[in-house]
Amino acid sequence: MTIRDLYQDGQLGLSIEVFPPKTLQGDSALEATIACLSQYRPTFISCTYGAGGSTRDRTLEICRSILNRHQIMPTAHFTCVGSTREELLDWLNRAYDAGIRNIMALRGDPPQGQESFQAVEGGLKFANELVSLIRETKPDMGIGVAGYPEVHQEAPDAQTDLDNLKRKVDAGADAVYTQLFFNNACFLDFRDRCQQVGISIPIIPGIMPITEFARIKRITSMCGTTLPNNLVKKLEAVQDDKQAQYEIGVAHAIDQCTTLQAAGVPGIHFYALNRSNACEQILQAIGFSPNNADCA
Ligand SMILES: Cc1cc2nc3c(=O)[nH]c(=O)nc-3n(C[C@H](O)[C@H](O)[C@H](O)COP(=O)(O)OP(=O)(O)OC[C@H]3O[C@@H](n4cnc5c(N)ncnc54)[C@H](O)[C@@H]3O)c2cc1C
Repeated sequence: MTIRDLYQDGQLGLSIEVFPPKTLQGDSALEATIACLSQYRPTFISCTYGAGGSTRDRTLEICRSILNRHQIMPTAHFTCVGSTREELLDWLNRAYDAGIRNIMALRGDPPQGQESFQAVEGGLKFANELVSLIRETKPDMGIGVAGYPEVHQEAPDAQTDLDNLKRKVDAGADAVYTQLFFNNACFLDFRDRCQQVGISIPIIPGIMPITEFARIKRITSMCGTTLPNNLVKKLEAVQDDKQAQYEIGVAHAIDQCTTLQAAGVPGIHFYALNRSNACEQILQAIGFSPNNADCA
């Protein structure tokens, strides 16, 4: 089964995104998170591809563990950054040989210290080219791509960004996973605009539970997501109380997911940040229960 076969049974498809940790302690936390969230039967767990391609091997290793140890379908994120076409093909072959059948195909951000994205000589410039490369060489792989309800930071305007998303879909993407957002109206408007330009593949909202105000301010400033004023006010009122920030964040995510479910989204993609607590609370609130009650 691949991403291509998902979202057709009317059930809410759950996917969880994790990243390769940098420490041994982080490795244990990730392992515990995957073990716990696997109990909620996600359709897949995806692992990011570090900035500048810095986690090429780790991404594969974690995806292999998701598949072999936890029997959950993995999705490997993959970017064009710093690689020639041949190097991209080599990594793709290794992913395929490891049993990975889903790729989140991305351009990637410029490496630190570089202002704008520059393709290496013999490399790819945009994610639509990566989608084409995967489609041509591994036609049976499922392909997810990124979409931006609040418009990608480098795009000159919303329509151009949408035309570029359409290019990825026309190249063979199977589903769109959105950048995190906190205002559902942005997502619903984006979904309408996608329909208007003929994008008919599933569009899956990306939800990141806020667990710490300072951290979410950092993340949103990097990716261009807006924090709604009413949410900022609530969080500012509990600046010194991390537990209260966590509770506000989880309650907001539950509200978002409930409204999105009612609006008929086929799935939800959780940016879990390698922690299970917040996701578990949200999943239980929206009707998922774990296989193993010890996890809850
Ligand atoms: C779900 C999700 C997962 C992610 N995972 C990772 C990850 O694992 N690792 C990582 O490094 N980053 C990740 N990112 C971040 C992503 O790499 C950045 O947002 C990056 O800046 C853009 O990637 P993209 O695939 O959207 O690029 P593209 O779709 O190529 O778009 C990049 C910019 O170029 C424009 N554009 C696209 N095609 C064309 C064209 N043909 N001509 C002119 N302009 C064009 C677009 O409008 C946009 O402004 C993820 C983002 C999301 C939403």
